[in-house]
Amino acid sequence: MNRPSSTDLAIQTVNDALGEFLAAPPEGTPSEVIELLTLVAGDPRAPLPTRLYFEAVQKSPVAISITDARARILYANQAFEALTGYSVADVRGKNESILSSNATPESIYKQLWRTIKSKKSWSGTLVNQAKDGSEYLAALTITPVLGQHGDVAYFLGMHRDVTREHQLEAKLRQQKRRIETVLDAAPVLVMLLDSDGKVCLDNHECKKLLGDLLGREPAEVLRQALQEQADFDPLEAMRDGQSFRDVEVTLETPGGGGPRWFSCSGTPASEADASARSFFGRNKDDENRLLLLANEITSRRRVVERAQLENLRARLAEQQMIHGMREALGAATYQMQGPLNVIQAALGMLKGGRADSAALMGMLEEISASGRQAMETLQAAVPSEAREAGGLVNVNELLRQVMELETDRLLAAGIVVDWQPTPVLPPITGRKNQLRCLFKHLIDNAVLALEEQGGMQPELRLSTTTVDDLVEVTVQDNGPGIPANRRFKVFQPLFVGWRNRRGRAGMGLTLAQEIVTEHGGCIVVDPDHNKGCCIRLSLRRVVPDA
Ligand code: FAD
Repeated sequence: MNRPSSTDLAIQTVNDALGEFLAAPPEGTPSEVIELLTLVAGDPRAPLPTRLYFEAVQKSPVAISITDARARILYANQAFEALTGYSVADVRGKNESILSSNATPESIYKQLWRTIKSKKSWSGTLVNQAKDGSEYLAALTITPVLGQHGDVAYFLGMHRDVTREHQLEAKLRQQKRRIETVLDAAPVLVMLLDSDGKVCLDNHECKKLLGDLLGREPAEVLRQALQEQADFDPLEAMRDGQSFRDVEVTLETPGGGGPRWFSCSGTPASEADASARSFFGRNKDDENRLLLLANEITSRRRVVERAQLENLRARLAEQQMIHGMREALGAATYQMQGPLNVIQAALGMLKGGRADSAALMGMLEEISASGRQAMETLQAAVPSEAREAGGLVNVNELLRQVMELETDRLLAAGIVVDWQPTPVLPPITGRKNQLRCLFKHLIDNAVLALEEQGGMQPELRLSTTTVDDLVEVTVQDNGPGIPANRRFKVFQPLFVGWRNRRGRAGMGLTLAQEIVTEHGGCIVVDPDHNKGCCIRLSLRRVVPDA
C-alpha cells in the first residue's frame, strides 16, 4: 500500500473539517461563512469533489487556517502564506498565537476564547504580526467545528487584512476633526443646510447663537429674517444654483442687548450620491446643499449707528421745536375758531333783526374781520413739516433709537425698561422721522405718567409683535392709567389730563393719531389693561410678493 502524500493528508484534513462543519454548523456561525463554504464544498452529504474543493480553499483570497481544539495549526491556505509571510511548513503544529502582537489587549483574546469554547463563532479585529515583524489589522472570524460527539474538533479561522480600510477611516476621521477645528476657530457662523433647510453641519459660533436664541435654530431664524427683511429665500437660491453675498439682516436676541446684525452669504453645493445604485454613474441622485455663512457685524454697525444717532438727536430736537410750535399754534387757531363762529352767528341774527342794532353789527363785523385776519396770520405761522419720503422701516430699530435718545431721562426717573422686541420683525412702509416723533411722544407720556404717580417702582414695557398683516407696538407703563371715560377723549384736541397742565396744549395724542392714520394704522388705549396704561398701535406691514 502507498503511503499518502503530504498533499493528500492536507486534502483529507480540509475535507474532514469542512465536511463535519457543514453537516452541523455551530450556533452563531455567520451565514456568509456557511454560504462560502457550501459554495466551495457543494452538498456535504454528496461525495465531495475533493481536489476541486481543496483547490478552491487553497486559492481563496481570504487567509484560511484550520486548527485543532487547542489552536494548533493543521492547515493554512495560500492567502494565509501570502499575508503572514509564513509557509505552511513554518506554522504546521504551531499555535495561532504565532501571529499575535502585543498591541491586541488580552481582554480581546479572553473574550475570543470564551466565545469559541462555548461552541459559538467569534468575529473581531486583532493586530497581527507577520513573519517579517510588520503589523497588520486582521478582521478575523473563528468558527468551531464540532466532532461526532459534539465536542470541538477543529477551529476554522478566516481573516483578511483590513489595515488599509482602517487607515482610510482614521484619515477620514482626522480630516473631519481638522475641518471641525478650522470651522470652530472661524469667527463666522458656518452652516451646511440640506434642501429642507435642516442643518447637516455647523460650527461653534452657531452653537453660541443657538444658546443666545434660547434653543431656536439659528439657520431657521436667519432664513426667516432673509425672507422677511430682504424678501429673499436662501433655499430657493440654492435650488436655482445661485450664490448670494453680504445680505444684511437684523435679529433681536432675547434678554436685551439690542439688535444684532449679520451679513449673510451663501453658496450652493451638491453632495455626491453614495448609494450602491450610483456606482456606475448612471443613477446618480446628488443632493443640493447650501453653505450659509453669517458674519456678525453688530459692533461695526453700532459705531455707524452712534454717529447717526447724534445726527438724529440734533434733527429730532429741531423737529420737536417745530412740533411744539405746531401744537401751540394749532391749539390757538382751534380755540379762536369757536368765538369767531359765535360772532358769525350773531352777525347773521342781527342782519335779519332790528335797524338800531346797525352800530352793534358794524362793530361785530369789524371784530369778525380782524379775528379772521388773526386766524389767517396764525395759520400762516404754523410751520409746515418737511415732507419726508416714505420707505421701508424697521420698527424695532426706530424704537431702539428713541429709547437710546431717552436713556438719560429714563435713568434720571429711575424707570426700569423692559424691551421685548419680536426677534424678526417684517418692515412697514413709513416715514421714519414722523414715526420716531410718534414713539418719542408715547414714551414721553409714559415717563410723565410715572413721574406723576410716584411711589412704586416705575416700569416701562415696550414690545413689538406681528399679528397677520400688522406690526403691533405696545407702550405700557405701571403709572396711574387712563380712566375708562377718558380713553377716547385723550385723542381729542386740547384734552389735557395731566395734574401739571403747564406747557401742555393737549394736541400731542391728536397729532400722534394723525401720524398713525397717515400710515394706515390705528392707535388705542387698551381697555383690558388695568395696571397702568397700555397704548397699542398697529401699523400695516409690507407683505412680501407671493
Ligand atoms: P495566549 O497565552 O495564547 O492566550 C492569551 C489569552 O487567551 C489567555 O490568557 C487565555 O485567556 C486565552 N486562551 C488562550 N488559549 C486558550 C485556550 N486554549 N483556552 C482558553 N483560553 C485560552 N490570535 C492572533 O493574535 N491572531 C490570529 O490571527 C489568530 N487566529 C486564530 C485562529 C484560530 C482558528 C484560533 C482558534 C485562534 C486564533 N488566534 C489568533 C488566537 C491565538 O490562539 C491566541 O490565543 C492569541 O494569539 C493570544 O496569544 P498569546 O500568546 O498572546 O497568548
